[in-house]
Amino acid sequence: MKIGILGGGQLGRMLIQSALKYDDQFYTLDPASDAPCHNISYFTQGNFNDYETVLNFGKDKDVVTIEIEHVNADALAELESQGIKIVPNPHIIKTIQQKILQKEFYKIHDIPSPEFQIIWNSDEKIIMPLPFVQKMNTGGYDGKGVQVIRTEEDYQHLWTEPSVIESLVDIDKELSVIVARNESGETKTFPVTEMVADPKLNLLDFNICPVFLSEDIQRQIDSITEKFLNAIHSPGLFAIELFLDKKGKVWVNETAPRLHNSGHQSQEGNANSQFEQMYRVIKNLPLADTDIITYSGMLNLVGAEGYAGKVIYEGMDEVLKLPKTYIHLYGKTETKPGRKMGHINVLADSREELMEKLIKVKEMVRVIAE
Ligand code: ADP
Repeated sequence: MKIGILGGGQLGRMLIQSALKYDDQFYTLDPASDAPCHNISYFTQGNFNDYETVLNFGKDKDVVTIEIEHVNADALAELESQGIKIVPNPHIIKTIQQKILQKEFYKIHDIPSPEFQIIWNSDEKIIMPLPFVQKMNTGGYDGKGVQVIRTEEDYQHLWTEPSVIESLVDIDKELSVIVARNESGETKTFPVTEMVADPKLNLLDFNICPVFLSEDIQRQIDSITEKFLNAIHSPGLFAIELFLDKKGKVWVNETAPRLHNSGHQSQEGNANSQFEQMYRVIKNLPLADTDIITYSGMLNLVGAEGYAGKVIYEGMDEVLKLPKTYIHLYGKTETKPGRKMGHINVLADSREELMEKLIKVKEMVRVIAE
């Protein structure tokens, strides 16, 4: 099959890497000439937000999928009407692209998500009690486009663009669950993972699996995934980001309609990875078993503060000496502060051992520049 991917970043790269054991041809579209997929696929340099570019890219493919959601969904809908298979459905991409539509989707389908109010412009009267979180309708990514409004003085910082304001959840844990559905309607869910964020960069730092959850919490998550999978009417792989609050209630924060950073430990930690699962979704094959092999965790390798330029990974030789530790680099030559350059997966026999190993690895490595 000729498989086209909108986006040529690390998610696409790891999908292709995983799928090379099968017999397909991968095509990618990305604006950056040195995108992580540029030298491992048939690469087109171009803007995946541009209608004509996406149409041209997709017209001779058997399937077109995405590895980033900020793409031209109208062009995907047009390709679909011409008989090209699109995964996931352009309609669900459009819903997720806009926080307002995404929040309404949860409400309509009775999926618990924090209370919200839609703000169309600066004249809107705010009825949401303080403190609350404001999220831009479009364009937010990796924590950008999200701000907390705590006091009435903070009202002056409110963004005036269309946005959603939602109640501030008293977060105990940030969890993620990756679900997949193929065209035949078969579904599979990965075991829940826990994200531990770096408060400064707002980027995912450690991601660990399994997470010990009470029966009640697991039941809430199962109910969310079931409602979600019943509501989407689309094949695809989706990462549902969850908040567990301090009272034991689970809320949906947001969903990504694609492969996700919170699933990277599945490369070595589960019977099959999220990349293998995505491949099977694209091809409408029987879905893969997602069982946990052992305790697993992932550490993002992000560009250190104060360094920009040609990348150097400091401490990698030491990491390579560690047992059950796996380096994944994304083929990016230039680093800058906060840029995701790679990740390291670690396996262990207990949660304590896992955390110790992750902290040790984090202290060993630094992503700097020449
Ligand atoms: P992005 O899509 O840019 O990653 P998110 O919506 O995931 O943005 O928000 C980034 C972070 O902000 C979350 O991981 C969480 O820590 C915090 N956050 C977002 N929404 C809320 C909320 N309603 N209550 C408390 N914290 C929140």
